[in-house]
Amino acid sequence: MAFTNSSLVTYKRLTSHCTKNRNHAIDTITIHCIVGQWTAKQGCDYFATTDRDCSSNYIVGKDGSIGLSVEEKDRSWCSSSSSNDHRAITIEVASDTTHPYAVTAQAYAALIDLVTDICKRNNIKELKWKADKSLIGQVDKQNMTVHRWFAAKACPGEYLYERHSAIAAEVNKRLGTVAKPPVVVTPTQPTTTVDVAKTIWDFFIGKGLNACAVAGLMGNLYAESALKPTNLQNTYEQKLGLSDSAYTQAVDNGSYTNFVKDSAGYGLAQWTYWSRKQALLQYAQKVKKSIGDLTMQLEFLWQELQSYTSVTKTLKAATSIQVASDAVLTGYERPANQSDAVKVKRAGYGKKYYDQYASSTAKPTTPTASVPYLVKVDASVLNIRKQPTTSSAITGAIKDKGVYTIVEEASGAGATRWGKLKSGAGWISLDYTKRA
Ligand SMILES: [Zn+2]
Repeated sequence: MAFTNSSLVTYKRLTSHCTKNRNHAIDTITIHCIVGQWTAKQGCDYFATTDRDCSSNYIVGKDGSIGLSVEEKDRSWCSSSSSNDHRAITIEVASDTTHPYAVTAQAYAALIDLVTDICKRNNIKELKWKADKSLIGQVDKQNMTVHRWFAAKACPGEYLYERHSAIAAEVNKRLGTVAKPPVVVTPTQPTTTVDVAKTIWDFFIGKGLNACAVAGLMGNLYAESALKPTNLQNTYEQKLGLSDSAYTQAVDNGSYTNFVKDSAGYGLAQWTYWSRKQALLQYAQKVKKSIGDLTMQLEFLWQELQSYTSVTKTLKAATSIQVASDAVLTGYERPANQSDAVKVKRAGYGKKYYDQYASSTAKPTTPTASVPYLVKVDASVLNIRKQPTTSSAITGAIKDKGVYTIVEEASGAGATRWGKLKSGAGWISLDYTKRA
């Protein structure tokens, strides 16, 4: 295939820091930030004279100038990946020297012009960007790559990284590629998908907590993170210039190294204090999961909760959402505001999950014991309930220790066993009884 170079170039100075004759057709675009507000001339001159083994095909200057440093037919030394640079046109863009490595409007406009021109001449019909490292090399799915996928670097910086979709969209428009209509996601209340909430519910029920406890816990998690495991505290999204997903990805790929000590709340429980964030990070690394992985965070949360003994004790015995929620609020989450209003609000969130899931959690099942049989109640006060799955008592409580007849058995929330009393037609927990 005949290689050409862009006619948009305003300055040309080739560098010897390259590999002659690329071994792959051009089918990928890799945009970098040069970490300096340079002109194209400054960039080309640098690559031509430096002792460092680095270069790029093009440099886009802060003033919109475009420099050619390595001809398109040759492979630049740019992205810390031989296979990437053999198939990609690499472009260094003048940028600020600090996060988020912003570029000027002139540089951004020139970048779009240049990328469009590269695509046209190299028969790249559509730019595809999914921010998905696992698609490297699958150019039919994604033909833009970023330096941070190949090395522990922030490159191309958040400013350009966040604009990759926009760059692709604008270039595709100019290429005449008919874009599919964007999928409009309408936010609903609550903002989490049913599946996430259900997964969390089932997880804690599976750990043996009853429905009230799980609802109380989930109401707090909803208040903290809207049940979004990749949630980065909003004030830090602005401070760090990172979205939830960009922060998560940067922590995962090692380009962001201040996760433990940045004091930013993160994840389901909005872990903030450095030792807790450190433990979370170490746990994620141990199980080889993303820092934003839902199941990983649940397992970690459960493990962490075990050291909050008074909270877990309250949760295990909880007979109301409010009690469970308050215990989590004041003993585990401990936000600055623990007022009565906050308590009511969080328990209210919990109640929504309770109403949604509790009844389906524990349908009475086939009796495991042949009934009727007698049990001996050791506790002096034992509530009698309408259903094994709800907390509502009917006829007060059994106040007397003694022997009672169980006419039916069923499982309640959290795999607890319940027995139906002949007298009163209510249910009692069999956790407090022995066969008589
Ligand atoms: Zn780079």
